[in-house]
Amino acid sequence: MMNQSDIKEVKALISSTKKISIIPHRNPDGDAMGSTLGLYHVLKQLGHDVQVVSPNAFPDFLAWMPGSDQVIVFEENKKKATECLQQSDIIFTLDFNVLSRTGDAMTPVLESLTPIYIMVDHHQMPASYASYTFSDTAYGSTCELLYMLLQELELDSLIHEDAARCIYTGIVTDSGSFRFPKTTAQTHRVVAALLDKGIDNPEIHNALFNNSSYHRLQLLGCALQNMVVLPEHRASYLYLTESQLNQFHHKKGDTEGFVNYGLSIDGIDFTAFFTENKEEGIIKISFRSQGNVDVNEFARTHFEGGGHINAAGGKSLLSLADTIKKFTQIIAQSKP
Ligand code: 5GP
Ligand code: MN
Repeated sequence: MMNQSDIKEVKALISSTKKISIIPHRNPDGDAMGSTLGLYHVLKQLGHDVQVVSPNAFPDFLAWMPGSDQVIVFEENKKKATECLQQSDIIFTLDFNVLSRTGDAMTPVLESLTPIYIMVDHHQMPASYASYTFSDTAYGSTCELLYMLLQELELDSLIHEDAARCIYTGIVTDSGSFRFPKTTAQTHRVVAALLDKGIDNPEIHNALFNNSSYHRLQLLGCALQNMVVLPEHRASYLYLTESQLNQFHHKKGDTEGFVNYGLSIDGIDFTAFFTENKEEGIIKISFRSQGNVDVNEFARTHFEGGGHINAAGGKSLLSLADTIKKFTQIIAQSKP
């Protein structure tokens, strides 16, 4: 149940025309883009001056989403994005819990501004920058939480087909197509309501998952060949070096979902996927687990990251080899 006085105040706030920006986290995924664009379509219906500002580019596999062609990318158009943020009365921040998740370039800009921040998110431990924080880790996706919020705001009748397609997308991607544990009866009721808006659900699944290039599958093959299984720790890991990424003409979003293969082995409840990014000088790490194995805590403690109990991310400034060495040493001593 959401805080009713907050609901009332937000309702009052958006009852008159405002300049509004909506922001996903850096390297936005289906849930981040789905929720920002879903909210964008609804607020536009209400007549607001609305703009989605993404910290960096979104992956090609989300480029079909209605409204994505209107998104301003901060790291590609800093001046326009900054002006837009500066002029905003309200900034919605969606699918992240701390401003630093927008990246080193955008964070200081956001920290220097004093709009009304409204957070809608489902990650652990929300920071306290927002005037209104709608955050609940019980939800499997920000998109599902957004739907419930729109319902509380009595705006769900303004969710038409475009918004419904976006919101559906985030529920599908964050739930692993309705199979992860936070997929509830309510999730399916929300999905039913979205289908009632007339969306073509198989078309969305095709757009999301049947769009691989030949090279992407070769890259997956390479990551699987690199997989190491540590049965004594019920763990596994995969990695891709920068030269392997280049060999298969890697594009943003190509490695989405690869980490799940590490968990698909019988007897494994903890996995990591390391990707080398020499341009940013980091190793990006994805963690996944099953049951009570807490990867949020693990990522926070050891790899400057966070997320959820069963899905988290982090980074390392060490080399790929040293990062993997650090990882295997930690789990040998104290696997979560
Ligand atoms: P992914 O592995 O798909 O990139 O991320 C899994 C989950 O962890 C997502 O919910 C994502 O928002 C979160 N996450 C990924 N990387 C980071 C990070 O560097 N810091 C924090 N706090 N969360 C992250
Ligand atoms: Mn999410």
